[in-house]
Amino acid sequence: RVLLEVKDLKAVVKESGQEILRGVNLTIHEGEVHAIMGKNGSGKSTFSKVLVGHQDYDVTGGSVLFKDQNLLEMEPEERSHVGLFMSFQTPVEIPGVSNFDFLLMAFNARRKNHGLPPVEPLEIEILQQGSKSLAQPMRIFQYLTSPWQTDWDNLKPSGQLLIVKSSFSSSSSSPLHPLFLLSFPILSSLSLLTGMSVYRVSDAGHFYSLVTPKVASLNMNPKFLDRNVNEGFSGGEKKRNEILQLAVLEADLAILDEIDSGLDVDALQDVAKAVNGLLTPNNSALIITHYQRLLEYIIPSYVHIMEDGMIVKTGDVSLAEQLEREGYRGISMS
Ligand code: ADP
Ligand code: MG
Ligand code: MG
Repeated sequence: RVLLEVKDLKAVVKESGQEILRGVNLTIHEGEVHAIMGKNGSGKSTFSKVLVGHQDYDVTGGSVLFKDQNLLEMEPEERSHVGLFMSFQTPVEIPGVSNFDFLLMAFNARRKNHGLPPVEPLEIEILQQGSKSLAQPMRIFQYLTSPWQTDWDNLKPSGQLLIVKSSFSSSSSSPLHPLFLLSFPILSSLSLLTGMSVYRVSDAGHFYSLVTPKVASLNMNPKFLDRNVNEGFSGGEKKRNEILQLAVLEADLAILDEIDSGLDVDALQDVAKAVNGLLTPNNSALIITHYQRLLEYIIPSYVHIMEDGMIVKTGDVSLAEQLEREGYRGISMS
């Protein structure tokens, strides 16, 4: 099945009217990995930005169908909701929004698009505070910021979970440590003896069980979930974070613009492994890169070369190898 069909796409810089894309043609089927290579300034990033509806550009010609829908008529947000994901060459920082909140928000937007109800943040009730038994459970809503010590996979959303912690702080920098998973009567006595508090956590634990293995597979520190989106992240951390977003969103088409830039070999391998792990026969990736290196880890079905706002040559992975050996000059573009 055709996922993306781009025909004779032309686009200009909105501000100046300068034409950057001069007729791009590209068809991507489900299950395919496409790579676009090309010299700096050839229009690769512009092409990907135009696909996601970046405000800097005006489309002046051609058409783009994504899953048989006219992509060019959609707002950028809508494009993401229907399953298009883009990792920007320079990921944006979002001060004041934690990674976890951001992921949950994006995840819920995707769910909504599939007609599913949103996943709520964790609801936590304090049942007992040390020796103080509470007549009414005190309700607090909070993201359980670092429940990493527990095997969340085994805690199904329906089950209510009892957690003891020696002290409680609402600050997200002071994580809850689930120490025991026991029945309430036992916890209650324990709490009386030790002065620890008892919490009941309901539902939405399953968003954690969704996110945490993905964080682990990217070799990311779980603490990254608590930090503001990309704020103060190193280049490599930003790239990993982009792939984490992709992993959570399970997009149908992932456009990865220079996901390899600024990565050392270890990070490159983590990122490539994560991307490979996400590829299924039903989704696709469009990988934009300067270097052949990444394509040794993520093997593309097709390699395209972009020049001056057009795809001028298409081949298989051997084209990337040839490019590496001979440079762009060595490749006949006719
Ligand atoms: P690549 O990603 O292949 O290096 P880009 O798509 O970033 O190339 O840029 C292609 C050309 O379009 C460059 O000459 C660049 O300067 C120009 N360009 C892209 N976006 C803008 C913009 N917003 N304003 C002005 N020029 C732009
Ligand atoms: Mg560039
Ligand atoms: Mg670029």
